[in-house]
Amino acid sequence: MTESRIKGSSKVLGVMGCPIEHSFSPTIHNTIAVNSGENFVYVPFRVERGNVGEAVSGAAALGIVGLNVTVPHKVEVMKYLCDVDKAAQAIGAVNTLKLTEKGYVGYNTDVIGVGYSLERSGVDIKGKKVLLLGAGGAANACAAMACEKGAAELIIANRTKEKAQALAERMKEHYACKISAADMDEARETENIFLVMNATTVGFGDKVGSSPLQDKQTLLKTGAKVVFDAIYTPWETKLLQDASELGLKAINGFDMLIYQAVAAEEIWFDKSIGKDEAEALKNELAEHYRNEQL
Ligand code: NAP
Repeated sequence: MTESRIKGSSKVLGVMGCPIEHSFSPTIHNTIAVNSGENFVYVPFRVERGNVGEAVSGAAALGIVGLNVTVPHKVEVMKYLCDVDKAAQAIGAVNTLKLTEKGYVGYNTDVIGVGYSLERSGVDIKGKKVLLLGAGGAANACAAMACEKGAAELIIANRTKEKAQALAERMKEHYACKISAADMDEARETENIFLVMNATTVGFGDKVGSSPLQDKQTLLKTGAKVVFDAIYTPWETKLLQDASELGLKAINGFDMLIYQAVAAEEIWFDKSIGKDEAEALKNELAEHYRNEQL
């Protein structure tokens, strides 16, 4: 008989969402468990809308030490937590729960993950000007990250400018950073930008081959030195292709995906995962992910 990885002493963690079948999180966290030899298992939980409160109290009763929360529960779940960290409060959404004596505490590790993506590529945005494209879920995390990392100025540009304005106003309530809102035409006129971040869906799905900044010349005009794209399917979007052709540093969204999971592990297990370990994990999972896509 082969020895099972799951024992009576194994801790249980997981991800709740609906749908959940597509989630890459079980692959990421179980790979971490196997590589590190830690005694835990990570499983998907399909939780329908309306069942979030019961799921959270049930999970606590079962002693599930850590959970990720995905669409559509990231906002709803906040009602059932005993505490929420600053970045998650600013965003108004939580993606990671840690069990404590008082109940679950909520975090948003997308914020930490996108910060790690830049830091671990040697990018420091302190005192720099950032252009963020988009005002949805991913953009919220990028905006909070830019403020937390001490950007001198953040311009949030969105097709629907009102949403960019609302996000800018919310960030100003939590951070002292200089923040303004723009539409996409105004975004294409910006200058002296250090970092461009794409958190729109332009470049993904039926918009593969399009860039939110349209072309290489527009990207060049912004003055950007670094370009981050939250998208990782395709692996290199048109925006990142333009960035590479201009000789700029180009980072895709797979780093954010892996590093938000790394940050969750650090929170759950009170440990720190070093750059080399995280990099090795990213490379292993990138190969796995690409094979799954074929
Ligand atoms: P979301 O909340 O639905 O937001 C979508 C954003 O894209 C909005 O700002 C929307 O603008 C904009 N948009 C959509 N179509 C557009 C178009 N034709 N032209 C210009 N802007 C357009 O989505 P999300 O969850 O933030 O996801 C955004 C992207 O980030 C997706 O590609 C997703 O795959 C990626 N993502 C990556 C990670 C990661 O870990 N790497 C995590 C989360 C998301 P309006 O407000 O005007 O509609």
